[in-house]
Amino acid sequence: LEPAYQYMVRVRLPGGVATPRQWQTMDNLANTYGNGTLKLTTRQTFQLHGVLKWNMKKSMQEINDALLDTIAACGDVNRNVMCNVNPDQSDIHTEVYGWAQNLSEELLPKTKAYHEIWLDEEKVLDSREAEGDIEPMYGPVYLPRKFKIGIAVPPSNDVDIFSQDLGFIAVMEDGELVGFNVAVGGGMGMTHGDTTTYPQLSRVIGFCPANQIVKVAEQIITIQRDYGNRSERKNARFKYTIDRYGIEWFVHELQARLGWDLGEAKPYHFEHNGDHYGWIKGSGRWHLNLFIQNGRINDSEDYPLMTGLREIAKIHTGDFRLTPNQNLIIANVTEEMKPEIVELVNKYGLTDGKQNSALRRNSMACVAFPTCGLAMAESERYLPVLLDKIEDILDEAGIREEDIIIRMSGCPNGCSRPALGEIAFIGKAPGKYNMYLGAGFTGDRLNKLYRENIGEEEILETLKPILLQYGKRRRENEHFGDYVVRAGYVEEVSSGLDFHK
Ligand code: SF4
Repeated sequence: LEPAYQYMVRVRLPGGVATPRQWQTMDNLANTYGNGTLKLTTRQTFQLHGVLKWNMKKSMQEINDALLDTIAACGDVNRNVMCNVNPDQSDIHTEVYGWAQNLSEELLPKTKAYHEIWLDEEKVLDSREAEGDIEPMYGPVYLPRKFKIGIAVPPSNDVDIFSQDLGFIAVMEDGELVGFNVAVGGGMGMTHGDTTTYPQLSRVIGFCPANQIVKVAEQIITIQRDYGNRSERKNARFKYTIDRYGIEWFVHELQARLGWDLGEAKPYHFEHNGDHYGWIKGSGRWHLNLFIQNGRINDSEDYPLMTGLREIAKIHTGDFRLTPNQNLIIANVTEEMKPEIVELVNKYGLTDGKQNSALRRNSMACVAFPTCGLAMAESERYLPVLLDKIEDILDEAGIREEDIIIRMSGCPNGCSRPALGEIAFIGKAPGKYNMYLGAGFTGDRLNKLYRENIGEEEILETLKPILLQYGKRRRENEHFGDYVVRAGYVEEVSSGLDFHK
């Protein structure tokens, strides 16, 4: 008799776009083989939790039947490519999303092992494999560590472009996409107590025309393949490679491999990294951005979210977009279909969260306990409870509708991108967190450690006076992260290299 091993299954879903049929497939898998819930992740994809080993193959095959896969959704390869969800400019979204799909496809490992193992395809052992060149880009030992790519369309920085190993910032001229600024060397993860590890923001190194985006990505990945640290895994991410060799060296190496020089970076401007909720009309279609607390889709007695979305998927003629903030857009709703979608949204109470504070609407938490094996503390299950208590303080301070970004991760891997939270918590032990303050509202500045290893009582005691002061003393349009830096609670962090100073 074998123990009931259970697994997490993560789908590859570039740009977070899923058809209604794909939504129904994921919903069905979650309820047939998973734990009855779906997780929308911070990288715009689905995770199934609690899939038993003997149900894995059936799950993978049904995912494949819905024209989805899980290839390279984990491992030391390019991960799910993120892309701005951009509901208010759907024509631009189509184009940029096309590049995200392109990157995702072109940067896939070429091995057929996935198809052989999960889809019962014939085992292929050809001469290329024998010669060891079956992976022309990744090579025989792949990358030193995972690699993350995102595409932003200003003024929205919803993909947290500076947290990506490689970021492309769309540049538009006269309403047309002309290319991308290239940003390299971001990343959120670190190890507690080891100051050689740190979160880092990427730096913009130049501009490339849109049709060169795959070439640029490929060459950047090969530099990391060749120069990344393969002897110390916790220093293996691309950000450390760049910090070790220097950005000038990197640009020189990239241009030598490309055989041409990047153009000068074009001006860009970000205004926020959150989502805009409610109905938005863009390019002649309607888009409804729903708040999904921590990306968890399930049913509770008074909030049948999963059922409501399933019923919508049955009639929806557009698509679903999973946002980088773990929320969901019911996108591309036609004028004719809108009344039917509105009826279902109302029937299942999917927008009944209006009482949520702006802080909660800007909150993100990773999975952590009970399904993430790396968790040191609760995250997804605890942040809503903590927010209930912080909301009382917000009411007292009169700042319930003030947009403040708050994030929690159960360990320093930082899956919820906590180093970019104006208020952030990273788990240290059950019930204990490091608390960070002072990131930039547009995702352009890291935060700084403010209190170490504190529990709920101390968290609330610490936050209360700061939030009350912010309510009284903030300048016009001053964001919380900027205020705590100006008021001297934390020093401004200009680079990951200063994060621990
Ligand atoms: Fe797990 Fe850590 Fe990622 Fe949270 S941040 S999901 S605890 S690995």
